[in-house]
Amino acid sequence: MRRLFLWALSLLICALLLLPGCERQPEPVEFTTFAMDTVMNFTLYGEKKQTADAVKSLLTGEVSALEGILSATQESSEIARLNRRGTGGVSAETAGVLAKALELCEVTGGALDITAYPAVKAWGFTGEARRVPSPAELEALAAKIDYTAVKLEGETVTLLEGMEMDLGAVAKGYAGDVLAETVRANEIASALLDLGQSTILAVGAKPDGKPWRIGVVDPAQPGRYFAVVELEDMAMGASGGYQRYFEEDGVVYWHILDPDTAAPARSGLASVTVVAPSALLCDGLSTALFVMGLEEGAQFWRDHPELAFEAVFVTEAGEVFRTAGLEGRFSLAEGYEELEVTVLE
Ligand code: AMP
Ligand code: MG
Repeated sequence: MRRLFLWALSLLICALLLLPGCERQPEPVEFTTFAMDTVMNFTLYGEKKQTADAVKSLLTGEVSALEGILSATQESSEIARLNRRGTGGVSAETAGVLAKALELCEVTGGALDITAYPAVKAWGFTGEARRVPSPAELEALAAKIDYTAVKLEGETVTLLEGMEMDLGAVAKGYAGDVLAETVRANEIASALLDLGQSTILAVGAKPDGKPWRIGVVDPAQPGRYFAVVELEDMAMGASGGYQRYFEEDGVVYWHILDPDTAAPARSGLASVTVVAPSALLCDGLSTALFVMGLEEGAQFWRDHPELAFEAVFVTEAGEVFRTAGLEGRFSLAEGYEELEVTVLE
């Protein structure tokens, strides 16, 4: 009788364990941190909760350390010190970021230019009162923007007189790549790292094996997404006038400057979203393509298959263009089904 009871009990336990609803769903570790002037949201799925918890403190530490060396506005950062002194040694990490950023300035023909900082400051985008510099002031500022004059020799950097650097267009992307590496090194196979202002990295797929679905902001209504891009082990970065701007006398001035004029880039675009394995590339290219505009940006995409990126362009008139390589990964969001999307080949 007792044996029969034990047999029935074990049968019951097995049946319960096999119930589909009883399958263990991993619990995410979710947290938010404020760094690099924005709110960052992280979602990690770890095998063991301790791992994800430990990675949480690692990531918040890493992102604030990177900000501490790369920020142009933090007095104590390596970049701020260089901007004050004009020359000096930097850490291997900063030298590495500078080398990568300068490479992107070069490949984009100077649409990205990390020496735009005096102009960024003149417009007040670093936090001081926003203002519109005079045409003469802009001309003088534009004449000083020239990444080719930045000398990087090993870990020593030298700038021209009056030149100052700003890694604002690439630092968040670089941080994203570093954090994703930390996540992977800690055996977390699934994570979403949202570094704010549309810089986002997907580590692996979602725990259910499906790709992460990331919204593309509608620049005309930044609280809404007009499209969804599916990402798996991939990064996405967007740049747009809607992210930081001010209005004066009915004119909108945004934070992405054309290095040729030192004024907000008016290329006819409202936003550019870039999808690529590296968040640094997404960040740098989205800024650069915004400066280039649709025609030049599309040609840049055709001319640089080695960069392995895809892009979504939205014009100020609200037209949407996406590159062919997003086929199967791009769809229109609810409420935007009627939107016409032109595929760039
Ligand atoms: P993002 O938000 O990544 O598009 O980068 C814009 C930020 O980079 C601005 O807030 C400026 O600090 C800086 N910036 C503006 N225009 C440029 C440019 N053409 N090249 C490099 N950095 C820029
Ligand atoms: Mg950028």
